[in-house]
Amino acid sequence: MVASATLRNFLEVNGERLWDTLAVSGRIGPGKSTGLSRLALTDGDKEMRDVFVRWCREAGCTVTVDPVGNIFARRAGADPRQKAVLVGSHLDTQIAGGKYDGILGVLSGLEIIRTLNDLDMTTRHPIEVVCWTNEEGVRFQPPMLGAGAFAGVHDLDWALGQTDQDGVAFGSELARIGYAGPERRDPTDIDSYFELHIEQGPVLEEEGLQVGIVTGSFTSFGAEVEFRGENAHAGPTLMRDRKDALVAAALLVAKVSEIGWNFAPKGRATCARLSISPNRYGIIADRTEVTVDVRHPDVAEAENMYRRAIDAIPGAAQLANVQASVKKQWKFGGLNFDTELVNLIRTVAAEMDVPHRHMLSAAGHDAYHVATVAPTVMIFTPCRGGVTHNENEHIEPSYTVPGVNVLLNAVVRRANS
Ligand SMILES: [Zn+2]
Repeated sequence: MVASATLRNFLEVNGERLWDTLAVSGRIGPGKSTGLSRLALTDGDKEMRDVFVRWCREAGCTVTVDPVGNIFARRAGADPRQKAVLVGSHLDTQIAGGKYDGILGVLSGLEIIRTLNDLDMTTRHPIEVVCWTNEEGVRFQPPMLGAGAFAGVHDLDWALGQTDQDGVAFGSELARIGYAGPERRDPTDIDSYFELHIEQGPVLEEEGLQVGIVTGSFTSFGAEVEFRGENAHAGPTLMRDRKDALVAAALLVAKVSEIGWNFAPKGRATCARLSISPNRYGIIADRTEVTVDVRHPDVAEAENMYRRAIDAIPGAAQLANVQASVKKQWKFGGLNFDTELVNLIRTVAAEMDVPHRHMLSAAGHDAYHVATVAPTVMIFTPCRGGVTHNENEHIEPSYTVPGVNVLLNAVVRRANS
């Protein structure tokens, strides 16, 4: 909790209640050791959604669910003609994820509602807490699917037809857990969107700051690359006769890492996924698939990194004597959040004496899609060591609650404007 004389003129959330709420979430969908494995549209996701909806109703909110399972919990405003101010994030996690990535943003939104109830305060605009479906994209691709469908970036039927690795459709799993809602939400019918999220990097902690005001995002390029060689016996097959798809993949992985180092510290380059066929002892791989992912705050530099990665593919294929093809390419990010909202967060943080800085997000977030339809901003709060997408993800109230208080005061100002 923050106990500071300078805070007296500002609203404050109940930090203990927020932590108790996070602790309940932290027991739903347990994963490895201290983490969570609450993949989208699993039974764990359903259980968490049910608890969240109950909490929202107990706080007096009207809850609606849209056809991709996004949950909107609305606290009425004084003027029914005003559009809603949205606050939220996601409740699904990575396969070996932590207890705070996304979850902190949704439950901070709920804590704002509870705080306003305690104060018996009505805002001019309604305030809605939102939980976006399938942000992580572990079970169903792509990530940020719910927010993308809401914003019209993805076609609804296409989203519902996405399948997991067992061939189960997103739409049927959504219906199974009871969150295929009837109410399609008009994306232009919202005033603004605020998302608080753990930083997922080490900067705030290293600089001793409690709030990152996210002004925009890195530009990210990605590709799925396939190498096709030939199965052969690892013993009798002479080196000169091999068409080893795994060697080509390994050469590309090493090259992509080298590109990352060449553009460090701002640039990041990763091959996060490698699939190998047949992936058996004693058999030379006939097919591999490598996911290439490069990111940079500067769009021209991101393009430069991506071009170098793509240019490295033919050489890797030639050395391994295999065929290469790029199966899929994508780009996201490279956006600026709303200047007025960025200024609002900065003003509130400065007035509240909460140490802050501007920063860019290097990770994907639901806010990117929402930003295409409404004024949007994000607030980052520190996480220990920058550790995330990991069961050891950790945050403390002392350096988190100040950011939630900045969010509360900024949201209330916006909702009263
Ligand atoms: Zn997240």
